[in-house]
Amino acid sequence: MSNVDWQGKHVTVAGLGVSGIPAARVLHGLGAVVTVVNDGDDERSRAQAAELEAQGIAVRLGDGDTLPTSTELVVTAPGWKPGKPLFAAAAEAGVPVWGDVELAWRLRGQDGREPAPWLAVTGTNGKTTTVRMLASILEAAGLRTAAVGNIGVSLLDAVLGDEPYDVLAVELSSYQLHWAPSLRAHSAAVLNLAPDHLDWHGSMEAYAADKGRVYEGNRVACVYNAADPATEDLVREADVEEGCRAIGFTLGTPGPSQLGVVDGILVDRAFVPNRQKQAQELAEVADVNPPAPHNIANALAAAALARAYGVEPAAVRDGLRNFRPDPHRIEHVADVDGVAYVDDSKATNTHAAEASLAAYDSIVWIAGGLAKGATFDELVTGCAKRLRGVVLMGADRALIREALARHAPEVPVVDLDRTDTGAMSEAVREAARLARPGDTVLMAPACASMDMFVNYNKRGEAFADAVRARAAESA
Ligand code: ADP
Repeated sequence: MSNVDWQGKHVTVAGLGVSGIPAARVLHGLGAVVTVVNDGDDERSRAQAAELEAQGIAVRLGDGDTLPTSTELVVTAPGWKPGKPLFAAAAEAGVPVWGDVELAWRLRGQDGREPAPWLAVTGTNGKTTTVRMLASILEAAGLRTAAVGNIGVSLLDAVLGDEPYDVLAVELSSYQLHWAPSLRAHSAAVLNLAPDHLDWHGSMEAYAADKGRVYEGNRVACVYNAADPATEDLVREADVEEGCRAIGFTLGTPGPSQLGVVDGILVDRAFVPNRQKQAQELAEVADVNPPAPHNIANALAAAALARAYGVEPAAVRDGLRNFRPDPHRIEHVADVDGVAYVDDSKATNTHAAEASLAAYDSIVWIAGGLAKGATFDELVTGCAKRLRGVVLMGADRALIREALARHAPEVPVVDLDRTDTGAMSEAVREAARLARPGDTVLMAPACASMDMFVNYNKRGEAFADAVRARAAESA
């Protein structure tokens, strides 16, 4: 179906939502006969359905599991679990299933223009940061580009919009990759691989296999993390184009075909004429914002993809210097009474929290929320010595409390048994009580936020508001 004649094609779009509604509209515009199916039948979906129906798109609410007869293709929202009956019905009927990324990939060049190649980034943590660093580097090189995908800017818009791009920096989630069988990136990076979303994928193996799809068919470079052998294994297993290279990044001295760090300098020993003997300086560690170890790794991955695309060293440096991190990612909120307050609300899993807990010496840790099937023993063991105290909140806080009891029984723990909007203020108050001058109060929950907040942004804002209120009181 690469050059699909959409006229009269019966397409079922699974899920009203951020990807489903635009997909339905685009396919309808191309002449397809579109039916949207949706599990929910609430007020909001009824309003959305009414709008689509007014444009001639059929919508079935409250029935996301029945495959409409005559369906020739299913386009699904990435979050829909592979085990849903709708997909079993599609498999039974021999109907292909595409996700939003697959649809965008197939619609590239639909308007006759030469499509922009994709530089793709996936991994458990650091995707958004790396993709935005990459876009910043590509911009510094004078290229027309955008950071798109699982990052707020729709791939469909990027692929079909009027803006002519030279190259796209694409963030892909494991869900999106699961549903994107024919995606072929110019080059791609898997930043790291730690258990996450296992309830969706079913197993670590299935999760890793979906992440590994990002390397399939790469033309120039498969970028892996030398400190995370699982990412290198995925490169080895991938079926790539002839001549495509495996490029590692490391926080240590790089070997041939790697990027790494030597004496505070980010260096490239991969995209140089003689990699046995030569290395090329790209930037200083101080150019990376913030220069925490995991973030230097992100910068190296972004640099590797940019260099694979042919970007000059000076643009790597300028792009990294221009980059400003997004909010709620190890964001320093304020110092109050000699204690630093840091918002890492985006640490929604243990692997991310581990990275920020590693960046401070003496910590009062605010944690808890939805654990998504994770365990906390390893995380707690790794940071136990640096914990001044812990404040727990949220639905699955008992899991963290039990891990603390096992591995850090001497660390004081405050367990907040409330989930109302005032809970964060109390958490900050309790953290302040535990903290000593020189400590860092770090809100890196290692859990998702949806049990108490709309999303991690709102959780971060609640924390920052509570900290600022304290700062005002103490001023
Ligand atoms: P993603 O888009 O993959 O969720 P972000 O760049 O938004 O990644 O960062 C998510 C969280 O992961 C943040 O809390 C950040 O501190 C942490 N993080 C960022 N990069 C890394 C990395 N390379 N390894 C581990 N944790 C990281």
